[in-house]
Amino acid sequence: MYCYLCTEKYAGLFTALCPSCHKIRHLQSVYGADRVLEVLQRVLVRPVEKQQIKENDELKIEKEKLEATIVTRSSNKKENKHLTITPHHH
Ligand SMILES: [Zn+2]
Repeated sequence: MYCYLCTEKYAGLFTALCPSCHKIRHLQSVYGADRVLEVLQRVLVRPVEKQQIKENDELKIEKEKLEATIVTRSSNKKENKHLTITPHHH
């Protein structure tokens, strides 16, 4: 039987969750589901604010280099790089 959460791995015989999801479930019971989700989104999704802060320092040089190479292309695609997901739970 497939894992109830990720539906990719097989779960154990006496549980609905695979070992990986069992660890996630454990973290949820310790920190709370909202907190776990918040951390995952912060690390994996990267909110817009943090992305902009990063662009302001080390990535700025990288970005300018990149834009210099694609300067002949259309600039419309610049806006699409920023994710609009805002995982705030207040
Ligand atoms: Zn799983």
